[in-house]
Amino acid sequence: MWSCTGICAGLAVGGLVAVAANRRLVSVLGCTGSIGVSTLDVIGRHSDRFGVYALTAHSSVDALLAQCRTFQPRYAVMVDEAAATQLRERLPPALDTTVLQGESGLVQVVTASEVDVVMAAIVGAAGLSSTLAAAAAGKTLLLANKESLVMGGHLLMRAVREGGARLLPIDSEHNAIFQCMPVGKSAKPRTDHVSRVVLTASGGPFRQWSLEQMAEATPDQACAHPNWSMGRKISVDSATLMNKGLEYIEACWIFGLEPARVEVVIHPQSIVHSMVHYPDGSVLAQLGNPDMRTAIAYGLGWPQRLTSGVPPLDLVAAARLDFAAPDESRFPCLRLARESVAVGGTAMAVCNAANEIAVAAFLAKKIRFTEIPWIIEHTLERMDIVEPTAVSVVEAADSQARAIASVIMADLQQPKRVTERF
Ligand code: NAD
Ligand code: MG
Repeated sequence: MWSCTGICAGLAVGGLVAVAANRRLVSVLGCTGSIGVSTLDVIGRHSDRFGVYALTAHSSVDALLAQCRTFQPRYAVMVDEAAATQLRERLPPALDTTVLQGESGLVQVVTASEVDVVMAAIVGAAGLSSTLAAAAAGKTLLLANKESLVMGGHLLMRAVREGGARLLPIDSEHNAIFQCMPVGKSAKPRTDHVSRVVLTASGGPFRQWSLEQMAEATPDQACAHPNWSMGRKISVDSATLMNKGLEYIEACWIFGLEPARVEVVIHPQSIVHSMVHYPDGSVLAQLGNPDMRTAIAYGLGWPQRLTSGVPPLDLVAAARLDFAAPDESRFPCLRLARESVAVGGTAMAVCNAANEIAVAAFLAKKIRFTEIPWIIEHTLERMDIVEPTAVSVVEAADSQARAIASVIMADLQQPKRVTERF
């Protein structure tokens, strides 16, 4: 049974164990997704240190129900109302789990005074308000939801500062960079002696494909990432290199770096997760097998190291580490992200929103893979960019960009040559 005081019984992977009173309580947002499931796997290995306060998902009732049975959270949040009703009906009465619904449920379980740690692992712009609320409430914020930072970087970093939150990056590249930098007690990285950071990118499943081949790519091919197992949206982002574009923006915000000090390098093996250059010529890198549980365990345990279930890296078996420059003519999304940073203001929110619309359409087989950047570029051209002075301004830019991207998509007339669309 869930409890935040006293010695209680907690479920661990493999059976019941005695649980100390001072364990930290975690709300896992997006618990049924790839990052959410990996987070619960790590938490399950350390049930003496962590308890689950809340689990949240959009509408996957079966998956959330199974997780509630195992982790016995105080709250389960379903954003979708009908799914919340179903979950309420199906939860065994013996479980002391209250079901909440909607955005207000998300905000309640990230701001509750009992919560120490929030894993922000909702996919897309839908994670913005809960991530901001966790930051403003001064929680330890494990940030996987990169889109919230891309959209509202200035607002989120301000909420972290003013709320006294501790931001620990979970995206593997930013986690790697964080690990290669001196960090103060508040988890604020010190970049004063950093020359530049290098984000590594696998290059995705189409690294060696021609534009003509990519024009015929299916969603399943785009989601078949060579090294990482991830949700479908981020998998498509990895295939277009928009994921690296979003991460480029994310790095500027998290580390307070001007864009010229952030570089992207293709590294097909995904073993070097990123690097930091120092003025004396030193380059610090973090290496490991491509498994998000390493970054998640680092965030959960910081400043201590926890076991994660990730097997040790065998460099002899890996044998080689290759590096190459990205090809922006075949992967224009990276350029679009860089241009959005250069424009500033709401351009990054617009870029993100248009990308979300285009990726969803590609996954629904309504557009070609190569039309994704075309839609983003034309949405950026048609939008007025303003200063993101408040969340409402960012949300308005997001909605308007989605509407414009949808119109552009509807206008797409089929037999245009693919290459004309760049
Ligand atoms: P996923 O698609 O596997 O899971 C998404 C989760 O968000 C699910 O639990 C889903 O129920 C929930 N969700 C979806 N729409 C929602 C909505 N409108 N409101 C509330 N909840 C909603 O995604 P993922 O691959 O786990 O990625 C999650 C986030 O982490 C993304 O921002 C992604 O970019 C980032 N990230 C993922 C990885 C990875 O390896 N998967 C690595 C780095 C960063
Ligand atoms: Mg990443």
